[in-house]
Amino acid sequence: MVESRLLQTQPAAPPSPPEPAVRARSILVIEDEPPIRRAIRNALRGLAERVVEAGAGGEGIDLAAAERPDLVVLDLGLPDLAGLEVCLEIRRWANMPIVVLSARHAEQEKVLLLNAGADDYVTKPFSPRELAARVRAQLRRGLAGAATESVVTAGDLTIDLARRAVRRAGRAIHLTPLEWDIVRTLVGQAGRTLTHQQIFDAVWRRQFGNPQQYLRVYITNLRRKIEADPTRPQLIITEPGVGYRIELPQ
Ligand code: CA
Repeated sequence: MVESRLLQTQPAAPPSPPEPAVRARSILVIEDEPPIRRAIRNALRGLAERVVEAGAGGEGIDLAAAERPDLVVLDLGLPDLAGLEVCLEIRRWANMPIVVLSARHAEQEKVLLLNAGADDYVTKPFSPRELAARVRAQLRRGLAGAATESVVTAGDLTIDLARRAVRRAGRAIHLTPLEWDIVRTLVGQAGRTLTHQQIFDAVWRRQFGNPQQYLRVYITNLRRKIEADPTRPQLIITEPGVGYRIELPQ
């Protein structure tokens, strides 16, 4: 009781700092179910000047070519084409971010899609907030181009890409060359989920063993070194059955 009275008389908390403004010229949504298209359109409100909609894969490919949107939201369950085909076709001539909407329990499909050039995926049923956050992150990447900063920070962690140096609260953290290569690969695509195979190819450059098992060992060691609490990772996020991504707060 006392607490609630106290809370009511406290001055309002200062508003959290606004997200850096990201606004696309246009976003293309390829989804056959009108109610879900409407939900996506609502989730994307404010992120684009216009949202263009297609109800089938072929129509989506045509619109992507005609409209050249800044980003595509692609549903995998389409009446005419598999989402994978749509993704591969668009990737033949365009490099705008593609965010895929996929059903739960379809890890293998997600892996195929990320390897085919999709940038991220959101699992259905999706939360509008989650979809907006993923789209915003991809727009930021797409509009800003590749990260050119040579020093990135996350809380008290500093990663100096040019000097190959990692520090937490000013204290140097030693990474092995392979750990460093993994960090550099993830930071170069921060916010984007990379599949086990993509990370493996970037770091080892030759095939041996099982990438997923191999990586797990390295990621565990890396988390011990760079996460504030390795048991609850905030930086290197696991996408179960798919891969990893690094989250660097803006
Ligand atoms: Ca669908």
